[in-house]
Amino acid sequence: MIMQQLNNDLLELTMPYIGRTDQVQGPGGNTSVKDDNGQMMIKASGFRFEEINASKGFSVVDYKNIRDYFYTVEISDKENEEKVSVAFILDNVRKDAEGQVYPKPSMETGFHAVLDTYVVHTHSVWSNLVNCSNGNEDLLRQVRKRTGISIAFIPYISPGFGLSYLITQVIKDSIQRNEKPPMVFFLANHGIIAHGESIKDVQKYLLDIDHAIKDIFSTGENYPDTDLEEKGPRLYVPSHPFASDKIAHYKADTEFFNQVLFPDQTVFFKDNMSFGVMDSDKKIRIDKEARISYHTNQREAKSIHETMTAYLYIYDTILKSGQKQQFIPEVELDYINGLDMEKYRKSLME
Ligand SMILES: [Zn+2]
Repeated sequence: MIMQQLNNDLLELTMPYIGRTDQVQGPGGNTSVKDDNGQMMIKASGFRFEEINASKGFSVVDYKNIRDYFYTVEISDKENEEKVSVAFILDNVRKDAEGQVYPKPSMETGFHAVLDTYVVHTHSVWSNLVNCSNGNEDLLRQVRKRTGISIAFIPYISPGFGLSYLITQVIKDSIQRNEKPPMVFFLANHGIIAHGESIKDVQKYLLDIDHAIKDIFSTGENYPDTDLEEKGPRLYVPSHPFASDKIAHYKADTEFFNQVLFPDQTVFFKDNMSFGVMDSDKKIRIDKEARISYHTNQREAKSIHETMTAYLYIYDTILKSGQKQQFIPEVELDYINGLDMEKYRKSLME
């Protein structure tokens, strides 16, 4: 019965972001809800929002244990702590009524555990116009002013343990100062998190912020269509010219796509693209006329095209606004070590 309520709440919370490729691309983003018995239902790892239903696409964890771990962990070696935290989270996955362990929860379970009852994390392209711009400080000031929402900014850190750790530090710091924690977190080169004690509140924070950013960037309401047409077995092409037009405009090549605005980009693009060659075994092929074709299954083709469109849209819109893109430096993509974690933690407390 209780599980039914959690599931209904999770579906209601997730609903506005389903099928919205301006909000999530591929299996990115995650949502969660908590009950009074220490249970948290969260999107399972690798699922798309529309794949969550009454029987699958989610996991259930003991969130209090996970929260206590993040509250008390001391970092000596980040790489090791990454492994410890993943194992700890997996140890706290509950079993269903049939005694089966629920699927692996999202890799972002840590920060969900330390936040309020309802949590939404998306890779909204609107928030990423701010998160991927070198003018992010001034832009955030404008967003705060227009919306009146308390917002924290988290510098770039690889998703997983590091991000959850930094979010926990902000929450702990607010508690120590006897202040209400920020309700929204902007994550550099990544996305946005909103949390709260009601579903409506959380959805409204995100909606208000999207509106404010669209206004600031004068983008209008429209985001490019990301539909694909099936042209044959394992062959899909975009139905809309947006991506091809931008690739032609920027004369985009391997080097262009190696400039990383957000981590998902490397997952899908790295070593997967060919340009202007007839004979290619790559999943993403761009011909001399900048026409794109995807050579893989439909699910992956969709994820790639959604990510490609988000990248080109953010790249183009930031440049048109007169600002510059802030790419992720290669060293940070490789890894951020324990020392840097401490530096980041300190910069957050200032
Ligand atoms: Zn994310």
